[in-house]
Amino acid sequence: MIDINTIDLGDNSITYNIIRTNRKTVGISVKPNGLVIVRVPYQLDLDKINTIIYKKRQWITKVIEKNKQVILPDPLKDEIISGNTFLLKNKLITLKIYPIEQKYPKISFSSRVLNIYINKNLSKKERFEKIKQILVKWYKKKALNVIKNRIGKYLKYLDDKPKEIKVRDYKIRWGTCTSDKRLIFNWRIIMAPVDVIDYVIVHELAHIEVPNHSTKFWNKVESLFPDYKKMKEWLKFNGLTLDLRIQ
Ligand SMILES: [Zn+2]
Repeated sequence: MIDINTIDLGDNSITYNIIRTNRKTVGISVKPNGLVIVRVPYQLDLDKINTIIYKKRQWITKVIEKNKQVILPDPLKDEIISGNTFLLKNKLITLKIYPIEQKYPKISFSSRVLNIYINKNLSKKERFEKIKQILVKWYKKKALNVIKNRIGKYLKYLDDKPKEIKVRDYKIRWGTCTSDKRLIFNWRIIMAPVDVIDYVIVHELAHIEVPNHSTKFWNKVESLFPDYKKMKEWLKFNGLTLDLRIQ
């Protein structure tokens, strides 16, 4: 059971995950992506945990700041091979690569296995680039399908509908709602847990009615997805991990 809590430090705040375990002491760790994890004994109450975090605030902030300067390395170095695993809706999918005579690649997906059939005469570099390209194309298509499927659940509560739904390659954002009510999503969101995908969908849907991030906007988000705060936090801390990386 993981709880998420935030303590306010005036000019900044620390959000942390509390994991209650069968242990006697408190352990704090800061992950490279900024995720703060506090492992505590089952019975320890929140006030005490907060006090401990407060005492350690300088150390935690320092590590988070230090980590911010670390740019996540591109995990796809120079090869993608059969057996490599990637994320889809926060679950792993396995890649299988088959060399074929034909020039044009083919792709199929079932039971969490993504089969890629690719020309056997490509050089190592060409094959790597080609597979990457095929993967991104497949993810984009998948993302659009999933988003279009999931959005229906929320559309029925809205008077104003999106004019169009698209996916594209964004470096730092998860979605946009244009002034003419088109929703564009970052295809990488498809790697996140389904609830996080829903949060991003709801976020952009709410922008159709309220273009800014005012209280009115967040109220709208909450009315469509009451539990949105946890997903927002998840994305804040794990967003950077959602990329074409071998898991
Ligand atoms: Zn927004």
